Amino acid sequence: MSPDSESAGAARVAASGGVKRREFLKVLGVSTAATTMLGCASEKVEKLIPYLVSPDQTVPGVSTYYATTCRECSAACGVMAETRDGRTIKLEGNPEHPVNRGALCARGQASLQGLYNPDRYRGPMARRNGQLQPVTWEEALQIFAQKLGETRSRGGAAGAVFINQHESGSFPGFLDAWLAGFGMSGHLSYDAGADHAAIAANRQSYGVAWPKLDFSAARLVVSIGADFLDSWGAMVPQQLDFADARADHQKAPRLIYVGPRRSLTGLNADRWIDCRPGTEMAIVRTLSGQLPIEAASQTTGVNAGVIDALAREFAATAPSMVLAGGGGVDGLELVLAANALNQSRGNVGVTIKPGEGYLGFDRMASPAELRALADRMNSGGVSLLMVRGANPAFTLPKSVGFAAAMAKVPFKVSFSSYPDETSELADLILPDHHSLEQWGDAEPVRGTISLQQPAMDPVFDTRATSDVLIAVAKRDPGSAARYPMADYRSWLISRFPGGAAGLSAALPRGIAAGSLGESTAPVAPGDPRSCHQNLLANRRRDESVDCGENGIGKRRPCHRANDDRKSHTSRASLPGYTARHCRNRHWPRTSARRPVREGRTQSARDSSRDRRSRWRCCFRIDQGERE
Ligand code: SF4
Repeated sequence: MSPDSESAGAARVAASGGVKRREFLKVLGVSTAATTMLGCASEKVEKLIPYLVSPDQTVPGVSTYYATTCRECSAACGVMAETRDGRTIKLEGNPEHPVNRGALCARGQASLQGLYNPDRYRGPMARRNGQLQPVTWEEALQIFAQKLGETRSRGGAAGAVFINQHESGSFPGFLDAWLAGFGMSGHLSYDAGADHAAIAANRQSYGVAWPKLDFSAARLVVSIGADFLDSWGAMVPQQLDFADARADHQKAPRLIYVGPRRSLTGLNADRWIDCRPGTEMAIVRTLSGQLPIEAASQTTGVNAGVIDALAREFAATAPSMVLAGGGGVDGLELVLAANALNQSRGNVGVTIKPGEGYLGFDRMASPAELRALADRMNSGGVSLLMVRGANPAFTLPKSVGFAAAMAKVPFKVSFSSYPDETSELADLILPDHHSLEQWGDAEPVRGTISLQQPAMDPVFDTRATSDVLIAVAKRDPGSAARYPMADYRSWLISRFPGGAAGLSAALPRGIAAGSLGESTAPVAPGDPRSCHQNLLANRRRDESVDCGENGIGKRRPCHRANDDRKSHTSRASLPGYTARHCRNRHWPRTSARRPVREGRTQSARDSSRDRRSRWRCCFRIDQGERE
């Protein structure tokens, strides 16, 4: 609290004619705690009791596990979200997921911090009189639809730009189809944390953005500034693969790390070679025989004997693997040189496997594209800017001048969940759900769909961007006919292999074989894949047949299931329900409990194997489509 606010508090006390308890506390608490208390005074009172009437799928105190996908980075690891009493309380890796095999990095673990971040936008906001002010969703959608219509009618659609967080799966295609419906060009996929030099070099050398690194096939790994155990590339599968490879004492690869900073990878290396920053290229040139050892030693500051030993070991060991991180000014050249070493040593296809690469790094916009966009914005060539899941005003170098360029754009829309440097410059904020609150999918490796489903109800009055785009398209006469579906979940089902039944079967594991990334065109009305058509057809045929929309019961269409939910307060009153089954009879209900010493109860099933047996009913009844 500043001295000014302190004196203001004292003045209020004086004016009140006496020290009341509340005022006393206000003045006494000249600390963050008191500031917090004052700041919270206008907050809506919330109850500690989570449910008055518990949803059908929950038992107080017993956790439900939802298989979903981490969206903190584009690697798209599988997650098991533990939800208790309506709140997600813990994330763990999905042991059946092909990318992370049960592991989760610190960033993925910390995803809950974003979910419950008290700074999240509480609802949509629009700029009025220069200030962002709360508005209703109806008002916000109206403003967005109106701006889209104006942009198109004035011929500015070609100048509209959508920057989306980089991700794989069906949403990028869905987004491009939506943009095309308004006459706009495809979106820019942006990831500030990616090693763009390595991605560009890999594309040139191997034809893929990120090949699989098979550590177990290598006898020697030389990492030149590539912190592959911490923050470089697909770190979780790389950590797992490296740990597996090193666990085999007979064939474990040696790891030599070259770099000025002893990173996590450097700490795990058999040898750390401490070179001067920006001189890594000299080491690579020495390994390829282009630079004498003495010259490399002078450039890098590394003892000539150390470089000589490295060069000898590298020449004598096969197969090997050379990795390079491209963070410096010559990053692209460095990674290209390292890749050329791999090619000359016959490592490609043996330890570096482009054919089994990770798709999470494909189609990423380069920094040059973002710089070109800022130039376009500065020259008045951008009529409408939409940003989702990215903060380019902060993450791009200051020399790009993105924040200043935003001032030249007539209207800016942000889908950010949190206030950040970009959203603060926006004219309209349509806050997105957290990834644990919404439907989606990813394709981390070719042919594998990683499913994303809500693990809990939204914390705040936010909406999934995909649902917002559908809602706005429905208001547009030119696009409405192409969006007959109720929401993105329905759109997803209509494209999922096997439809609703296939999705229902895949959700407990969180993965399915196939690909949704290429199916970008919205389903036209009357198309048999349309979920809405299925609903109508089944209702006409027999009301007791599942509509195929949500697969939540073989005998009840989803709209009747919703009615059931409203009218029944006890699961036991539902037809066919037994205490051993959930209401949809997907999985045996294992709510057996045992008392523990403290007098509380806990689930008797604790091992991960047993937890897996309880993944059930991941389809959420309350998300079922209504008539
Ligand atoms: S590596 Fe996996 S767990 Fe970590 S942030 Fe990325 S997707 Fe999430």
